[in-house]
Amino acid sequence: MKVKLTCPCGESFNVNSENFKNKTSIVCQNCSTEFPKEYFEQFKDAIRTLGKLENNFKYKTDDNGFEIPYWKFEL
Ligand SMILES: [Zn+2]
Repeated sequence: MKVKLTCPCGESFNVNSENFKNKTSIVCQNCSTEFPKEYFEQFKDAIRTLGKLENNFKYKTDDNGFEIPYWKFEL
């Protein structure tokens, strides 16, 4: 799952829940402003939890293994 972040400088970029595991910070590529450290772990956990949840939704299949329509969400 990708999440779009917009820095106070106006630069937007996507972070991917799959790549979050080893990250300890997010820094804007444009102006080097860092995502607030005090919220980073909470943010990371939330995105990774949503990412895992989304995988369950994405691969919902019927008894024959065919993908079937199901609830979707995106950020
Ligand atoms: Zn920035």
